[in-house]
Amino acid sequence: MSKTIYIAGLGLIGASMALGIKRDHPEYEILGYNRSKPSREIALERGMIDRATDDFASFAPLADIIILTLPIKQTVAFIQELASLNLKEGVLISDAGSTKSAIVNAAEENFVGKSVRFVGGHPMAGSHKTGAASADVNLFENAYYIFTPSSLTTSDTLEEMKNLLSGLHARFIEIDAAEHDKVTSQVSHFPHILASGLMEQTALYAREHELAGRFAAGGFRDMTRIAESEPGIWTSILLSNRETIIERIEDFKGRLDEIGQAIKDEDEGQIWNFFNQAREQRQAMEIHKRGGVDSSFDLYVDVPDEEDVILRILELLRGTSLVNIHINEENREDVHGILQISFKNAQDLERAEQVITENTDYTVVIK
Ligand code: NAD
Repeated sequence: MSKTIYIAGLGLIGASMALGIKRDHPEYEILGYNRSKPSREIALERGMIDRATDDFASFAPLADIIILTLPIKQTVAFIQELASLNLKEGVLISDAGSTKSAIVNAAEENFVGKSVRFVGGHPMAGSHKTGAASADVNLFENAYYIFTPSSLTTSDTLEEMKNLLSGLHARFIEIDAAEHDKVTSQVSHFPHILASGLMEQTALYAREHELAGRFAAGGFRDMTRIAESEPGIWTSILLSNRETIIERIEDFKGRLDEIGQAIKDEDEGQIWNFFNQAREQRQAMEIHKRGGVDSSFDLYVDVPDEEDVILRILELLRGTSLVNIHINEENREDVHGILQISFKNAQDLERAEQVITENTDYTVVIK
């Protein structure tokens, strides 16, 4: 049976979802809202959507399923607007916001007593790119796609969403909205604060200690990569998950004080334990063996400084899709090997490790 799907916000997430929906359901009609013209035009030209509007309310009554793929604040505003419109009986509404409680609460408040089904959604994949021009049908492959059921989520809601989004090739999982916000505050939101704070501290320090900028190497780069994220998205994430994030900040201040005190006291045992515990905990977490927030699958190849060495490795990897390739040629103190290749999933990573190990005598490390 054909359905009409309405995607509001043809940015990176909305346009990539449209492509994923089209992949498995070419017969569905996809309507798109975007306030600015360029993303509307790109989405139409590239066949991501069938019709476009800049008037959000106009398409809403036509839709069987509405997905709001907008900044959190705007998602809440559109939920309020949807509640005042004459929507289809039993319409299914979802969203893609990176925090869930504020959105789910707004839905419960506004849709109570109406013939509306709602489930919060958070596809845990993305990048710093924005707009329909960056859309990628494979963006969500193997990534977690979180649903946060609520009182508006009937038993058929999740099945219908999973069926709609089957072409994303994501891994669906259901958790409570408040728990989602707690977990992501620790492993996503707070790390962004730390990365930006560290970046700012270093930039200021480098004004007086010019070499700081030049000596910053692999460890510093890994710690601060996410400081390049889009400021607007992160401002709204922090403001929609305030209490939980403040609690993480306070907890961390305590940890800094503790290690600071141990250094003052010259407590060698405590300092050693601090590093050792973290090392063991990170190894146990196996974060490189699965997808998740911003995770990638990295391979480090210790290559000699010889002509064509990189071409030789790329030739071995012909046919495998690479996410990124980086030549670490600066300070190598804490960098594994010199060639860093990132893959989309664990299978590609393992295949690459095998083929490089079998065909060369270079040391290959998976961190
Ligand atoms: P984007 O900047 O690519 O797209 C945002 C969309 O919202 C655009 O269509 C833009 O026109 C529209 N928009 C912004 N402000 C608006 C306003 N005031 N009124 C009307 N439309 C407005 O961003 P994105 O990465 O696609 O993010 C969309 C949602 O997905 C956000 O809630 C974000 O938290 C969430 N998300 C992002 C990522 C990521 O890594 N990018 C990952 C998971 C979830």
